[in-house]
Amino acid sequence: MGGTKTDRAYIRRAIEAADLNAVRLALYQNTGDPDLARLPPAAQLDDGQREWLIEQAISWLEENAGPRSLPEPPEAELRQLMNLATGEEMGDLEFEARREQAAFRKYPFLVDWDGEAPRIPDGFEVAIIGSGFSGIVMAVQCELLGVPYYVLERQAEFGGTWNINRYPDVRVDTISSTYELSFEKSYRWSEYFARGEEVRSYLDHVARKFGVRDNTRFSHDLKRATFDEDRDLWRLEVDTPDGPQTLEAKIVVSATGLFANPKRIELEGDDAFEGRIVHPARWPEDLSLEGKRVAIIGNGSTGIQMVGKIAEDAEQTYVFQRTPQWIMPREKYGLPVEPEVHWLMDNFPGYWNWSRYMAGAPLFDTHALVTTDRDWQAEGGKVNPGSDALRKDLTEYIKKETGGRQDLIDRLVPDYAPFSRRPVVDNGWYRALTRDDVELVTDPIARLTETGIETADGTVREVDVIVTATGFEVVKYLHPARFMGRGGTDIHEAWEAADGPRAWIGMMVPRFPNFFMLYGPNSQPVSSGPSQATWFTVWSAFIGRCLKRMLTEGASRIEVTQSAYDSYNEALDEEATKLVMMTREGGIEKNYYVNNEHGRVQVNAPWYGPVFQRMFSEVDWDALELTAKREDAARS
Ligand SMILES: Cc1cc2nc3c(=O)[nH]c(=O)nc-3n(C[C@H](O)[C@H](O)[C@H](O)COP(=O)(O)OP(=O)(O)OC[C@H]3O[C@@H](n4cnc5c(N)ncnc54)[C@H](O)[C@@H]3O)c2cc1C
Repeated sequence: MGGTKTDRAYIRRAIEAADLNAVRLALYQNTGDPDLARLPPAAQLDDGQREWLIEQAISWLEENAGPRSLPEPPEAELRQLMNLATGEEMGDLEFEARREQAAFRKYPFLVDWDGEAPRIPDGFEVAIIGSGFSGIVMAVQCELLGVPYYVLERQAEFGGTWNINRYPDVRVDTISSTYELSFEKSYRWSEYFARGEEVRSYLDHVARKFGVRDNTRFSHDLKRATFDEDRDLWRLEVDTPDGPQTLEAKIVVSATGLFANPKRIELEGDDAFEGRIVHPARWPEDLSLEGKRVAIIGNGSTGIQMVGKIAEDAEQTYVFQRTPQWIMPREKYGLPVEPEVHWLMDNFPGYWNWSRYMAGAPLFDTHALVTTDRDWQAEGGKVNPGSDALRKDLTEYIKKETGGRQDLIDRLVPDYAPFSRRPVVDNGWYRALTRDDVELVTDPIARLTETGIETADGTVREVDVIVTATGFEVVKYLHPARFMGRGGTDIHEAWEAADGPRAWIGMMVPRFPNFFMLYGPNSQPVSSGPSQATWFTVWSAFIGRCLKRMLTEGASRIEVTQSAYDSYNEALDEEATKLVMMTREGGIEKNYYVNNEHGRVQVNAPWYGPVFQRMFSEVDWDALELTAKREDAARS
């Protein structure tokens, strides 16, 4: 057997632990056996069909296993495979959006030169601010096009938000294989839901492998960026270990993330409190919770993720909840990836590709869950059939996980619709609440005393440590750096003078030429798209397309027109009215996706995912103004 020292029993264990849909697709791609195409998706296989599939895969692997990759199949075959994956015929829009998901090409989604690359003029350089996921992907896009770039990173290493968040049990809550970059094809995640430390190592590995490390300047903090209209470039004032420096770049890409600024809550009496108050994004290395009384304020993704681990260590844990969350179970959360499955990834050509594809497939059809169905509501439904069914299932889940404890159930079932907020994953949170040494507190906090927390009913709970898992200032895009565009326009002042941060397709703002944001205002897709890691690639490819056009046409500026920006935002506001999060059923006032000051969706792009994706893959050049600098134009 090529490249392995495995026997039939080992291969069987591998297949049984694997994603059977991916097994079927890889096997079909390798063999073309029509019986495989006739099978239903894995969830609908009967025992006989399942066993037949497993046997077919084992027999094929006994003869053919080996470390090979498959080329991208021709379009019709790829489409057939993708239809088989979900058991449904997809439309052209969906095919276009998902065709790179199985990642057969070397650099899926990213763009390269189609023919010979034009000469890159002196001084045409891209400054990328931030070296988290998005900054690294943008850098790889520049590498691919051969465009000079440098990355400025205020921290001392790669990792972005994963460097900052080192709280107990920090890990991804989307399966690792969807949280990886499609151009790195051989990473061995040790767990199905990687821990923060492993995500940091992953990003460091990718940055080194693809040449980004050499162009990254750590401990470089951008303070101010000013567009020089005479020279069509940005001047960047940067704090460095050698003191302040001024750098220049033709193009600036902000990849500074959404979660750079921890949100602090002001609690009456916090000066008097004698214990420690910590934010998860500032977790002290020396903090041991062994034998301590700990309060956790906040039950978003972070607050919920840490409770199980803290409860194991602490003597007593208090969980302060203001708004209950819809919390969903995740299969394989906390489990290691079996060595047999690693073997399969390495030796079953196509399996890695299709397991990635299948891991992302649950996201394909989520749009119906986040939009209201007026007809359904008229008949007495709450939101739409899917959302109401999910609400019922999750309510049952709460009952089961709390062992039917009515005192908990009454306070844990939300009164708004699922998917109105970022979905939260259950890593044993409900069960932790049933422990004798854990108390769920839902009375509002009145103040801190010297030794504890007093709630509105006058009860004081004595604590040693308070964890404020209260999230981030997500609406403070780019903050605290200042960006000054044409005519001295300050981006934050311009946003505040209107109704908060906005952009065209989440990326560009008029009067700010040659400036792009990754993860800018209204860019987090609300549904039906690929994973976040893939979006970073889709967005970077858009910038790649703009760079290509500038270089091909000899343009020195690219800027979105005011009219395109205005009409895009008008359409966006209209589209957002359909989102459940903006309705009473969605609990509008309780949501970090919503800018409450301005009463509008702030973080999300309200579009159906494939429609949003097309805005990046098919650039609307009419929305953009490209101009050559006068002396450049005169020379050419
Ligand atoms: C605890 C936590 C868990 C998460 N889990 C998931 C998950 O499971 N799945 C998922 O899809 N998403 C998850 N996310 C969302 C996550 O933010 C994104 O997936 C992704 O990591 C963001 O990458 P980024 O590069 O856009 O931003 P970041 O990772 O935040 O990187 C931005 C970088 O910019 C740097 N920077 C900022 N300002 C400046 C400046 N002025 N000068 C120089 N450098 C600067 C920062 O130091 C940072 O390194 C999670 C977020 C958090 C906080």
